[in-house]
Amino acid sequence: MTDYDVRLEGVTKRFDDVVAVDDVDLRVESGKFLTLLGPSGCGKTTLLRCIDGFETPTEGAVYIKDEDVTNVPPFERNTSMVFQSYALFPHMTVGENVAFGLQMQGVDDSGETGRGGVGQAVKRLVRRGSNEEIESRVEEMLELVELPGTKDRQISELSGGQQQRIALARALITEPAVLLLDEPLGALDLKLRQNMQVELKNLQEELNTTFIYVTHDQEEALTMSDQIAVLNDGHVEQLGTATEIYEEPATEFVADFIGETNLVRGDYSETDEGATITRNGRTYLVPANPEARATAGFAVRPEKIRIGDEAAGLDNSFRATIIDEIYKGNLGKFVVELDDGERFTVDMQIRDQGSYLQMGETVQ
Ligand code: ATP
Repeated sequence: MTDYDVRLEGVTKRFDDVVAVDDVDLRVESGKFLTLLGPSGCGKTTLLRCIDGFETPTEGAVYIKDEDVTNVPPFERNTSMVFQSYALFPHMTVGENVAFGLQMQGVDDSGETGRGGVGQAVKRLVRRGSNEEIESRVEEMLELVELPGTKDRQISELSGGQQQRIALARALITEPAVLLLDEPLGALDLKLRQNMQVELKNLQEELNTTFIYVTHDQEEALTMSDQIAVLNDGHVEQLGTATEIYEEPATEFVADFIGETNLVRGDYSETDEGATITRNGRTYLVPANPEARATAGFAVRPEKIRIGDEAAGLDNSFRATIIDEIYKGNLGKFVVELDDGERFTVDMQIRDQGSYLQMGETVQ
């Protein structure tokens, strides 16, 4: 039987007239990396805060490890949060910041939550004030985030990337069942962000902890996630693996939001071999789709279009003119125009600079 660490049932969150989260049902499997992905304002942070307990849903229920926590305060939930801003204490050392993760829960006099594990044992020790145990646990966390021996350093002496690792160590020291991450790499430069994406995913696999990760960056989501929930206007537009979301977008919104795509609308009709979309008198062959309406469309990724000899003999092969090009090292990005004015963006690997296509060139 599948084990779910988080279950959301009909979760809605309204702020006066704004429906930030709209009737969301979502299950997050134990030990998986789920990303909430969507444009600014689609409700990602609000949904994360409903899981963490900083927001209470207007309607619906939140379950963590099968316990209904809808009205349970944040510090009594088996979750931890990492923020984009790190939210570290600048006047405390690295070690004190990491240990604070324990103390936050240690001061909670509700005490035994019955969750067990080393995290709980250390929390009890915090209440009894066993500094040695805390220190060894802090060091263990610093090793985990690859910053061993830094406990006496000041937060201000660390780079942004190092500060984010400390924030991660502080969140993980309590051994939460679910780690919630709200755009944690958003403040880092591209190179560091890409390195940290891989490290975070490796760490998640090593710990086998459930991660719920918020981002508006689709590349980040595709790189890291076991599952992606694409959010639009407060609701889940599609839930699936990175490949499913990229290769089989369920809606036009998903096709358009994830990666680049060419969208063509036209009149749909079924044939013996499949189906067609007709637009501007031109007929495109498409896979039949029983749900398609009379006016429908198709989406095609730029890297799925071939130019030149590679295109010979393929279905949907048309003459076109190159009207724009962007050089991107080994990748050529071209805009081509068919003779009816329809335009497509095409990505092509450039293996031989001599064969680089020229503006105005007519191709097939
Ligand atoms: P971003 O990527 O920009 O952080 P988001 O997808 O995380 O956006 P939310 O911050 O969850 O989106 O906001 C969703 C909607 O709810 C927005 O319209 C926002 O203005 C509104 N909202 C969020 N928090 C509050 C609040 N405390 N009071 C009123 N409206 C809010």
